[in-house]
Amino acid sequence: MLRVAVVGSGPSGCYTAQGLVQQDSSVFVDVLDRLPCPYGLVRYGVAPDHEKIKSLQGNLRTVLEHERIRFLGGVQVGGPGGLPTARLRELYHAVVYCVGAATDRHLGIPGEDLPGSWSATEFVSWYSAHPDAVDDGFVRAARTAVVIGVGNVAVDVTRMLARGAAELNPTDMPQGALAALAESRVTDIHMVGRRGPSQARFTTKELRELGALPDTDVVVDPEDLALDPGYADPSALPAAQRRNVEVLRGWAATPPTGADRRIRLRFHLRPVELLAVDGRVGAVRFERTVPDGRGGVTGTGRYEEVEAQLVLRSVGYRGVPLEGLPFDTSTGTVPHREGRVLRDGVIAPGEYVAGWIKRGPTGVIGTNRPCAKETVTSLLGDAAALAGRQVPEDAVASLRAEGVEPVAWAGWLAIERAEAELGASLGRTVVKLPDWDSLLAAARTATP
Ligand code: NAP
Repeated sequence: MLRVAVVGSGPSGCYTAQGLVQQDSSVFVDVLDRLPCPYGLVRYGVAPDHEKIKSLQGNLRTVLEHERIRFLGGVQVGGPGGLPTARLRELYHAVVYCVGAATDRHLGIPGEDLPGSWSATEFVSWYSAHPDAVDDGFVRAARTAVVIGVGNVAVDVTRMLARGAAELNPTDMPQGALAALAESRVTDIHMVGRRGPSQARFTTKELRELGALPDTDVVVDPEDLALDPGYADPSALPAAQRRNVEVLRGWAATPPTGADRRIRLRFHLRPVELLAVDGRVGAVRFERTVPDGRGGVTGTGRYEEVEAQLVLRSVGYRGVPLEGLPFDTSTGTVPHREGRVLRDGVIAPGEYVAGWIKRGPTGVIGTNRPCAKETVTSLLGDAAALAGRQVPEDAVASLRAEGVEPVAWAGWLAIERAEAELGASLGRTVVKLPDWDSLLAAARTATP
């Protein structure tokens, strides 16, 4: 019998647990999460209006309901008051860290921390009801928003800013965020890339969705596109980039319809400073860039200011070091060889990684499948050596003895019931509980 802890119940954690129990009938897996709710970024990152991607929760649910897999929510690993990684290692034959990339990258420019400027992660957490999210009145008093970055998260937050109440009401977003977005007076959203359109990171499917939003014009300045070396002859571009450029060219050639809202897609503008008006962000100063011939850009010394009462910095996620685990600060990942954690270049027996903390914050949810598979293959290859070590019969009993009371699967099901009841009481479907108290209170109503 091999007892494995998987830390993190997002896609990479669930796919790892699934691979382990499917490939070896002697493996038992506890999936630990610091939150009382499972599914990681599928619950707290995928935009609420992306119902199809959200429905992946059904697949992850099947994994966590497997007879040899247990969900243990509300267990913090590492950090102040958390279960030390060294202790976790004693409780299980092997530990797989699937903790993702928990923070956002910084721009490192003046004014970045002005009131009214937030990371996209903070905004996403708020409308996704993450219990650590802060309601900072994101859209209150804003007419114009600037989203910095042109990845899929930037597209998500741009789309959420442009959506109306009628489209958001059927989602599971928390009532407070729904009310705030319904009352939003944001009419202009600038989504800005520092390089050219052929170098943007968004995918075409996500990009096209912007053009399908009700009462919203997508405005593209042909001059921004023309700077891009791929613009003149998109046929030479890889297929994904070519499709993006074609969509953008189409919008650039379409006159606005006079809709109430405008999404302005801008390129070749590098943010250099956030400017204050009355102590809050009032504009973003950009420098015009041109291609440097090596895939990057260089500044031109020409500047442009874009008014904004709300700035969302969407320039990528970053992994956070976990106490007791090695960490490469240059990549924001844990050093590994085929998923086996490396300490000073040497394999650390029984410690593994999968997902964003292994390969960095790239790829779509499905990318986690092959990533988890590689780690599972490594771990099962080491199984004979790992199983020789004595570990407790039941780690939960040891955790309880140390004052850690996990939220079991029944607790999560009780949270789901409470969210369905809240939705029904508000005349909506499911409505997420947005704070620790209500989540834990709901979990406590579980029948053992
Ligand atoms: P991302 O894809 O890495 O995009 C980051 C963006 O920020 C890029 O446009 C990048 O430009 C820009 N950037 C970085 N540093 C900058 C700086 N200092 N100044 C200005 N711009 C800067 O990150 P993401 O959007 O956070 O997405 C993370 C991952 O999640 C991606 O793999 C994404 O596809 C995935 N995701 C998928 C979906 C979906 O499938 N629907 C939804 C959300 C997220 P450069 O290219 O010039 O560096």
